[in-house]
Amino acid sequence: MDTIVIGGGPAGLTAAILIKRGDPQRNVVVLEGHRQLGGRAATDNRNGHLVNQGPHALYLGGAATEVLRRIGIDPAGGPAPTRGAFARYRGRSEVLPTGVSSLLRSSMLSPGEKVSLGRTLAGLARIDSTTFAGVSAAEWIDSVASSTTARELLGALVRLSTYSADLESLSAQVAVSQLQLSGKGVRYLDRGWSTMVDALAQCAATLGVVVETGSPVRHAEPDRGRWVVHTDDAEIGADAVVLAGLSPHTAARLSGSEALHDFASRAEVVTAACLDVGLVAAPRPERAFMLGIDEPTYFSLHSRAADLGSGDVLHALRYGGPPDDGDDVRTDLERIVEEMQPGWRSAAETTRFLPRAVVIHALATAAAGGYAGRPDVVVQDAPGVYLAGDWVGARGHLLDASMASATAAAQALAESGIGVG
Ligand SMILES: Cc1cc2nc3c(=O)[nH]c(=O)nc-3n(C[C@H](O)[C@H](O)[C@H](O)COP(=O)(O)OP(=O)(O)OC[C@H]3O[C@@H](n4cnc5c(N)ncnc54)[C@H](O)[C@@H]3O)c2cc1C
Repeated sequence: MDTIVIGGGPAGLTAAILIKRGDPQRNVVVLEGHRQLGGRAATDNRNGHLVNQGPHALYLGGAATEVLRRIGIDPAGGPAPTRGAFARYRGRSEVLPTGVSSLLRSSMLSPGEKVSLGRTLAGLARIDSTTFAGVSAAEWIDSVASSTTARELLGALVRLSTYSADLESLSAQVAVSQLQLSGKGVRYLDRGWSTMVDALAQCAATLGVVVETGSPVRHAEPDRGRWVVHTDDAEIGADAVVLAGLSPHTAARLSGSEALHDFASRAEVVTAACLDVGLVAAPRPERAFMLGIDEPTYFSLHSRAADLGSGDVLHALRYGGPPDDGDDVRTDLERIVEEMQPGWRSAAETTRFLPRAVVIHALATAAAGGYAGRPDVVVQDAPGVYLAGDWVGARGHLLDASMASATAAAQALAESGIGVG
């Protein structure tokens, strides 16, 4: 009758809530390694500035929004400040085409390129993204873009919506479905992503889920049809274990699954270098958004769209993390912030540099057949073990994958009959 969920990020909390809701008699325990819940979705209070770990946006048409609403959570916030946004191209600032009027005003493209790109973007909604599962994003872009600039622009929009700079590996299924989702809007959350995490934790507590923080799971082993999970100071038995939000390597190690070991050895981790800054006040609040077109960079003044505590909060990011020297990337990101917010240093109250933040544990690649190449929530060679995370299941990207797989894991566990009665 006991289920242990390992991982107290959005996936683990969601899985725990749905398992407990489905069977209130079941004892559900969440074990989180850190003192704070939330994982990569946690928000830190730094001198009164509420700072996410890099820029975070919730896709309003995605699986995460859908599951949160089912649970009764609809976090407040605002849309990304892309009106009047800048594109950085060939070392110059241009108008970033984010819609028809900015596309027409953009000086980056010729009239013919504008018509062609406009047609591609307008036709996106009608495309069945699954037909591109085995095609790379780069190949897809080449097939629809009429010029180098159009290719670079489409590539930048794909980077923005997927977080992947490796367009040769990325499945075009992911690229197309994320561009489609972007069209439905994103939301920056008031008080940061911890608003969502806190609401999930509150819901779990109300249902009677036991949540233990500061309890990293070191080891797990099957024992006569059950599982024994070891933390630093306890051994806990369970009928089922949900590995939620862990890396493929940790999931493989804890479950002992050969299939997961094999997957982990092939996984392409998606990283980013992030500069997160809290300011007394942004020097130029109207300069709120910039996307690099021929370089994998991003800037956004998140507090323009969401309430993030005192003053302002901005994020600058390089997709793909540092190619070699982290210091150079930091200098580069600081230069971008200076371009967008001249004089920001004297207004900065907190600055954090994350050289290699893990955005996605394993990319859905064209070589693996897109989303269909990811492991299922049921670990066949480790009975009683279920998976949830951003690299699991055949639906969604980023948080959407974590929440969709958490939902599917809870459902699969309920249907298995494990621990019932
Ligand atoms: C820079 C950056 C920007 C991002 N931007 C976006 C965005 O705009 N939109 C979007 O949808 N997503 C975004 N993401 C991704 C998003 O943060 C993740 O998809 C989401 O946090 C995944 O939730 P999760 O629960 O699967 O994993 P996590 O949030 O990583 O949670 C996993 C938890 O498991 C715990 N854990 C690990 N090992 C153990 C163990 N052995 N024992 C106990 N606990 C353990 C960890 O401490 C952690 O708390 C971004 C991520 C980063 C890094």
